[in-house]
Amino acid sequence: MSGAVVADLRRTVAELHGELIRNGLVAWTMGNISARVPGRELIVIKPSGVGYDELTASSMVVVDLHGTVVEGELSPSSDTATHAYVYRAMDWVGGVVHTHSPYATAWAAHGVAIPCVLTGQADEFGGDIPVGPFARIGGEEIGVGIVETLTGSRSPAVLMRSHGVFAIGASARDAVKAAVMCEDAARTVLLARTLGELTRLEQADIDALYDRYQNVYGQR
Ligand SMILES: [Zn+2]
Repeated sequence: MSGAVVADLRRTVAELHGELIRNGLVAWTMGNISARVPGRELIVIKPSGVGYDELTASSMVVVDLHGTVVEGELSPSSDTATHAYVYRAMDWVGGVVHTHSPYATAWAAHGVAIPCVLTGQADEFGGDIPVGPFARIGGEEIGVGIVETLTGSRSPAVLMRSHGVFAIGASARDAVKAAVMCEDAARTVLLARTLGELTRLEQADIDALYDRYQNVYGQR
């Protein structure tokens, strides 16, 4: 069942974990990335408890959309049930990232959404970065909270209360970008708050910025 597509995704997902380190989003092994195999009911995900330096294409685990291992020698990430739930519930999602990145997790610890006070956040998130409910680790509760919070939201990232960040994207790379931008917004807005009260951007400006960035910005 392997095939070139799965082999490519194994390499991509293994390599993307380097971005979590380079962007300061993870401590020890506390962060994970997965990707959906296009057109298949399969996910490529990080193995549990393996250091980022040791991650290779062949150490990645392939699971089905219920988290059952299909291919791979190691156990999948302990967050696999959460990733799998998100893929089952959100057809368009091709990548999921989870981190406890420090600034965003500080907001999650307070259960406070990151207010949209900067154009960069309007571009990327189209508004506040929302807070999801507290959920115990282990079952599908976290996945349910993520899906409930992000369905109908423009934000590709959610601050799960007292836990950390889950980010989604059409691809694993997009989800990693959302996790990086979420941490960036969390850090800058926290710094800005130390200088005094903040004013949220006007909704019309947020809408215009989001539309331009999503539809016009970059190379077409
Ligand atoms: Zn976690």
